[in-house]
Amino acid sequence: MIIVTKPTISESELDHIRERIEQLGLRTHISRGEHRIIIGCIGDESLLRDVPLLSFAGVESATPVLKPYKLASREFAASPTVVKVGDAVETHIGGRSLAIIAGPCSVEGIDMLRETAVSVRAAGARLLRGGAYKPRSSPYAFQGLGEAALEMLAEVRAETGLPVVTEVMDPRQVELVAEHADVLQIGARNMQNFALLSEVGRVQRPVLLKRGLSARITELLMAAEYIMAQGNRDVILCERGIRTYETATRNTLDVAAIPVLKAETHLPVIVDPSHAGGRADLVAPLAFAAVAAGADGLIIEVHPRPSDALSDGDQSLSLDAFGDLMRSLGPFAAAASRTLPAHASERLAAVAS
Ligand code: PEP
Ligand code: MN
Repeated sequence: MIIVTKPTISESELDHIRERIEQLGLRTHISRGEHRIIIGCIGDESLLRDVPLLSFAGVESATPVLKPYKLASREFAASPTVVKVGDAVETHIGGRSLAIIAGPCSVEGIDMLRETAVSVRAAGARLLRGGAYKPRSSPYAFQGLGEAALEMLAEVRAETGLPVVTEVMDPRQVELVAEHADVLQIGARNMQNFALLSEVGRVQRPVLLKRGLSARITELLMAAEYIMAQGNRDVILCERGIRTYETATRNTLDVAAIPVLKAETHLPVIVDPSHAGGRADLVAPLAFAAVAAGADGLIIEVHPRPSDALSDGDQSLSLDAFGDLMRSLGPFAAAASRTLPAHASERLAAVAS
């Protein structure tokens, strides 16, 4: 902690600050400038966390030296974390292979879910998304099929082999959702629901943590820290666009968050271009940008008939559009030294030749 004093500080005020810091077991280093004194606090900075330093007479500012997050920080792990979902390298999140997660915003029924899963798998997706519990802005909007949708997701996973990512909104649902899903999603609106974060921190399931609508990068990392502090170290961060003054898009994709997060944390970072842009025609360009900027994967909304979707139809890709996107992603993946799961038709061609 570095404390800068006001020019008016008296010697007794300075002594009082020093005494309080030293009582806590830290040492102080005083550096006297022409107008201000800088007090360097040496020792365990966390001991000062709850000391209201600005309330001390004579203090102008107090700046922590250390990051408030530890387990999520880059220094904590020697190498980037790869979150192991399922057995295949292509379903692991954070390795060289780009993790491609696709599926409907909401699970609307078993047939549409199966149709989507089979198609996105053929196009190269290796994990299936689908909301069972939906965080809707209106209480009158479709809220998801709940437990029935969890069962559909598990059934389609059994048929296709695609691990399932689905949102959990309430600490009371965590156990049930964890029984059915491979990855627990914490939605943007719940990024700072600390009871929920702690609860998913206590289960043995990877957590996909989406950035809050107006959350700073540090707040996202602190939310990850909540989960990790409970013992669950398998956290995947997701940039999904933030609120800005721009209204041409649903949110503003913060592309810079990708390299910033990569520098700050060892956790994998994926991008949701669907919720960022809010329009199907923006999904591909935002996905390209995300991959080029170093994202470890993408989560994309796909619906067999977007115009019939019960939620987020405007931003959902049709099955064909998702196939086109996967085909055009190749050069961006290569430029970022990433591999993509092979498109099924390419795999078949390779087997035939
Ligand atoms: C979703 O993934 O369908 C969703 C609601 O996302 P977000 O929490 O990012 O809005
Ligand atoms: Mn959605």
